[in-house]
Amino acid sequence: MGKIQRWLEKCLESHGNCRRGLSGMKSSKNEDSILPSRVVDVRLGSGSRVRLVTTNKGERGRYCALSYCWGPKSPNDSQTTLLRATLESFKQCLPVRELPPTIREAIEVARRLNVPYLWVDRLCIVQDSEEDTDAECNRMCEVYEQAFLTLAALGDDTGDKGLFLDREVLDYPSPVSSNGEIE
Ligand SMILES: [Zn+2]
Repeated sequence: MGKIQRWLEKCLESHGNCRRGLSGMKSSKNEDSILPSRVVDVRLGSGSRVRLVTTNKGERGRYCALSYCWGPKSPNDSQTTLLRATLESFKQCLPVRELPPTIREAIEVARRLNVPYLWVDRLCIVQDSEEDTDAECNRMCEVYEQAFLTLAALGDDTGDKGLFLDREVLDYPSPVSSNGEIE
């Protein structure tokens, strides 16, 4: 988490292009982005509940987006998704324990970075509504571009492995010489 914080601070301080986004439409450093139509509120208020919120048009805020692979249907995955039938209950309380580890850990990372909202496709797009899926999929580029930060679960091809994986650290010689120059 410390490493993520440091990367993020550096990005906020000195990466103008990251802040502007590809379209140049992204908010400036001090202004929050326009929120997607639905986001997961990861803050634990008095009720200690994570819930889905529907935003007002043009409402601004800071959110992380999660990019991950749904993978093949795994027996461990409850396939908890936003459906017309679950919309109202998700607004009261999201069943976090039923979610795959990758999404649970993304909620935790957003919370630890003090980012109040998280956008995850399967929780923010009504999966059994063609109208909603069409409308939201059309805006997906914008959703990722406007995100304060996108968490990309690149090491996880199933949704079950989570964000933090053990990996083999290869012993490459450092490209930077002892006097600090790149060789
Ligand atoms: Zn950056």
